[in-house]
Amino acid sequence: MGKASRDKRDIYYRKAKEEGWRARSAFKLLQIDEEFNIFQGVKRVVDLCAAPGSWSQVLSRQLYLPAKSSAESKEGDLPLIVAIDLQPMSPIEGVIQVQGDITNARTAQLVIRHFDGSKADLVVCDGAPDVTGLHDMDEFVQSQLILAGLTIVTHILKEGGKFIAKIFRGKDTSLLFCQLKLFFPTVTFAKPKSSRNSSIEAFAVCENYSPPEGFNPRDLHRLLQKVGSPSGGSHLDCSSGWLEGPNKVYIPFLACGDLTGYDSDRSYPLPKEADGSSYQSLDPVQPPIAPPYKRALELKKASAQSIQDTHEKPLACGVFFYKD
Ligand code: SAM
Repeated sequence: MGKASRDKRDIYYRKAKEEGWRARSAFKLLQIDEEFNIFQGVKRVVDLCAAPGSWSQVLSRQLYLPAKSSAESKEGDLPLIVAIDLQPMSPIEGVIQVQGDITNARTAQLVIRHFDGSKADLVVCDGAPDVTGLHDMDEFVQSQLILAGLTIVTHILKEGGKFIAKIFRGKDTSLLFCQLKLFFPTVTFAKPKSSRNSSIEAFAVCENYSPPEGFNPRDLHRLLQKVGSPSGGSHLDCSSGWLEGPNKVYIPFLACGDLTGYDSDRSYPLPKEADGSSYQSLDPVQPPIAPPYKRALELKKASAQSIQDTHEKPLACGVFFYKD
């Protein structure tokens, strides 16, 4: 799909470039905030799986830059934003970057160190594995990222704090809901208007972090495994009856964002330039600096070049030699 054609079919892709966002995902976080007011009172935040950085841009624009420009703010009062990803990303004002794997305990330790004993008010996680198209597999890998996010949450989120995580809707959604309910009394699965209906993604908005009494983060996985199992015990909010049979929990999905606003599944006509000339598509704001597909592209280019060299090698009689 050409850039202009994508601009027509994907209004949020076009708007992201016009408004200076690195990715259209910025609108998802903004629309979640419109509904849930997630930035209110936030001074310390962690952005998990942050590259290329549009959510970090939102955090910088909503939290850091207004505080910086306010005359009363002293250096030490400025919001702390820590962003983590496997991939490097180009700098964003007010955002500390950590490159690492969120499923690795050492990355969690690095993040915790930046907080220097203090706690975060908000943790967001837009992590996504490379999608294989096999729904069960994609949903499983996605749930592992959420659990890694939850591990970090149990170490650094303050009581009363919020956790926003991308989920893939599937057969284990109810289980995930119940697991999150162990730590957050209010869990809502939200579908921002900028997220396409055809996509299985949604976002868990978890409010008012309240771990079970006497909870030790080291017991997290043992506790999560008990959810939904017959040995779960009645003290677990989501014991077995919630997940099966007539009592099965049906999770409400809440659409959020201005519902009269742009529809991500519709095409919109391209605007004319002010001078009446035809539409010029903008370049992306910040292409990824080291995307995982870079090596594949290099190999593809090298292979195409070698095929071309082979095809163009003339034989003595003047015909071209084609190698199969
Ligand atoms: N929120 C980002 C933004 O607005 O620009 C987009 C995030 S993108 C959809 C998903 C990211 O998850 C990718 O950059 C990928 O590198 C990252 N990711 C996937 N698995 C990860 C892991 N185990 N640890 C850290 N990052 C991971």
